[in-house]
Amino acid sequence: MGKIDRDEILEIFEGYDKEDLSIATLGSHTSLHILHGAKMEGFKTTVVCEKGREVPYQRFRVADEFIIVDEFKEIADEDVQEKLREMNSIIIPHGSFVAYAGLDRIENDFYVPMYGNRNILRWESERELERRLMKKAGIRIPYKYDDPEKIDRTVMVKFPGARGGRGYFVASTPEEFHEKIDLMIEREWITEDEISDAHIEEYVAGTNFCIHYFYSALKDEVEILGMDSRYESNIDGLVRIPAKDQLDINLQPSYVITGNHPVAMRESLLPQAFDIGDKMAEAAKELVPPGLNGPFCLQTMCTDNLEIVTFEMSARLDGGTNTFMDGSTYSCLLYGEGMSMGRRAAHEIKNAKKEGVLEKIIT
Ligand code: ADP
Repeated sequence: MGKIDRDEILEIFEGYDKEDLSIATLGSHTSLHILHGAKMEGFKTTVVCEKGREVPYQRFRVADEFIIVDEFKEIADEDVQEKLREMNSIIIPHGSFVAYAGLDRIENDFYVPMYGNRNILRWESERELERRLMKKAGIRIPYKYDDPEKIDRTVMVKFPGARGGRGYFVASTPEEFHEKIDLMIEREWITEDEISDAHIEEYVAGTNFCIHYFYSALKDEVEILGMDSRYESNIDGLVRIPAKDQLDINLQPSYVITGNHPVAMRESLLPQAFDIGDKMAEAAKELVPPGLNGPFCLQTMCTDNLEIVTFEMSARLDGGTNTFMDGSTYSCLLYGEGMSMGRRAAHEIKNAKKEGVLEKIIT
C-alpha cells in the first residue's frame, strides 16, 4: 500500500458532478460551523455520524444527509468512502477526523477528495516534524533541551502519549525533573523505557493566544479570522485556590482542554501575528506542498516583552474556531457578520468553482 498520489484524487474528483457538490465531515469537533457555513454558501452537506450522536446535527438542521456508523473510525471504511464519493463529497478535515480516521489511512487509502492538505496533517501530530516546519518558518518557538541535566530555568515536560496535556509537568531543576518522573513511574503513567521520550522545552510564562488563520491559495494571502484562549482543566481551576493552599493539596496540574474563550489581541501585536502566520504559510508551501491550504492555527504565549512564542500548531480547523460560529472581531473586518472558519472554507471552494480552479485546492 503506497501513499495516495494527488493525481489519483484529482482523477476521482474529475468524475464528480461539480454542480452537485456536497461538503462532508465527521460529526464532532467543529462540524457544526463547517456544515452550517457550507449551507450558507449554498452547498449540500453530509455528516458522518456515530450512532447515538445525531441529535445536534438534526436539531441544529446543519446536515442534509446522514451517514450513520457504529464507530467514528468507520469514516475511513471502503463502503463509507464509496457513499461519500457518490454524493460528490469534499471532506473538510478537523481534529477528530484526523484522530478517528487515522493518519495512515488518510495518507494511504482514504480516496475521498479533501479541502486542505492531507499530507501536512502528520506534521502537526509529530513533534519533530512540527518543530522542523516552525524552524523553517523562522518564528520564535520554545527553546528545547536535549538533556534533563541541562535544565537551567523553568521547563515544561511533555510525553508523546500525554494527549491533551495530561501528564505534562513543570520543573525548574534536574532534581525536580527526576522527582516528578519518579512520581509518574510510581503512578504507572509512564514506564522506565519511556523516560527518554520526554520532550523538554522552555516554559513560556505569558498569556495564551490561539490565532486562527486562513491561507487562501486563490488569493495567495493569509487572513486572521479569529482568536481564542484555552480553558484548561485542572490548571484553570487550580489557580482559583489561594497560593498557600495550593501547596497543601497534593494535586498535579494538568492541561486538558475543556473549552475556549474568544479573545482580542492588543492591536500593536497584530503585525507580529500576521508575520508569523505569513512565515508559516511560506515554509509549509516549500516543505509540504501545497502547504497550509485553508484553515490553520498557531497556539502561542505572549510574554511581558510582547513577544509571541508559538508552542504548537494545527494544520487544519482548530477547535478554538467554535468561539466564532457567527463571526469574530477579526472576521467581521474582512467579511462583515457571520463568517465562521467553516464558512470561509466553503467560500473558498465556491470561489475556486467559480474560477474553474477547484483542482488547485483539492488534495
Ligand atoms: P496538547 O496539544 O496535547 O493539548 P499543548 O502542547 O497544546 O498540548 O499544551 C497544552 C497546554 O500546556 C497549553 O495550552 C499551554 O497552556 C501549556 N503549554 C504547552 N507548552 C507550553 C510552554 N512551552 N510554556 C508554557 N505553557 C505551555
